[in-house]
Amino acid sequence: MGKEQTLLIVKPDAVRKNLIGEVLARLEKGGLKVVASKMVHLKEKEAEEFYAIHRERPFYRDLVNFMISGPVVISILEGEGAIAKNREIMGATNPKEAAPGTIRADFADSIDENAVHGSDGPDTARTEIAFFFTPQEICPRLKARDY
Ligand code: GDP
Repeated sequence: MGKEQTLLIVKPDAVRKNLIGEVLARLEKGGLKVVASKMVHLKEKEAEEFYAIHRERPFYRDLVNFMISGPVVISILEGEGAIAKNREIMGATNPKEAAPGTIRADFADSIDENAVHGSDGPDTARTEIAFFFTPQEICPRLKARDY
């Protein structure tokens, strides 16, 4: 598996509930490192493009409207198997199906407002990271002694 980078978004519901620190703390405790992070209020066009893969789905408009309903915190996480590790700590998309102790089980109210986004594979991780960050904004620790 090796060292990977993945994209994490703390969604507007979690930001509204003051959970930015809690979410990042859980991921850090899980062994992941934050190598870039910023708070932004997405524009409608950005949210539409980011979720373009879901354009034909019935929930697309609700998803876009939710993602622009308040600021989000977007981070790049790095570590061994970071993509799967992030998704494991996040829990299943539907909080009702999320394992106990996961972020979504503990903090998400519904499948529409489910607290976090995480890349689902190496290709999406690369695309999603490039969507939000320039290489200059990323401080990789792949070779650093923190590992
Ligand atoms: P994720 O990778 O776990 O975030 O899930 P997906 O990429 O499949 O879906 C993206 C986002 O769309 C999810 O996080 C949900 O917020 C939303 N979503 C996915 N499936 C549904 C659904 O069946 N109904 C609704 N309302 N929202 C959904």
